[in-house]
Amino acid sequence: MILELPNQFKLSGIEVKDGGLIIHQPVRFEDLMYDLTYALRKNRCIYCGKKLNAKNRTLDHRYPRDTGGVSITNNLYPTCSVCNSRKSNLLHHEYLHIRKLRGKSKKKFLQKIIRQKEQIKRKIGYCLPKKWVSLVEMSKIKYDKVPNEMRGKRYCRILEFYEKYHKLPRPVIVDKRMRLLDGYNILFFAREFKIAKVPVVILENVEYKP
Ligand SMILES: [Zn+2]
Repeated sequence: MILELPNQFKLSGIEVKDGGLIIHQPVRFEDLMYDLTYALRKNRCIYCGKKLNAKNRTLDHRYPRDTGGVSITNNLYPTCSVCNSRKSNLLHHEYLHIRKLRGKSKKKFLQKIIRQKEQIKRKIGYCLPKKWVSLVEMSKIKYDKVPNEMRGKRYCRILEFYEKYHKLPRPVIVDKRMRLLDGYNILFFAREFKIAKVPVVILENVEYKP
């Protein structure tokens, strides 16, 4: 998929040019995506229209994190902190719908969403547009040495998820040459559990060349 990028962006070691992103030095990928999103999108809450400033601005994951929503610009939208906490882990259209509901019908709708999420986790693991994700053989993904000891909290959460659903909870993110950009924990876990193919978001206009 093509990563959405601003026309102009200045950060040391990062180059945005001709619709592509070149990363020249190791960065925290998620932070880079946040900075790019603020440069790309209007400085207004997409739900209430309020003007955003450094104090009240947050980024909403349009496909929520708890169902595999990745932190890339295409999935991030500026919202005020109030709207973001109200939207919580709902999908964009679910939130727009639920705002119109009250009482019993709201409760019913929420229960339906919980059931749907459970089905998605059992069937696929994560909720993302099909065209964003490919299944790729582990051996094709290139990465710098993964630390041998990564069994922290994040690892435990992946393990819990895997034991319950027999799926990975989210994809990893790679550049156009299959170099890993984000998702060391998932990759480490997949290697440990000898999972042959992992879900991958391939960013075709991004190159990591430190
Ligand atoms: Zn708002």
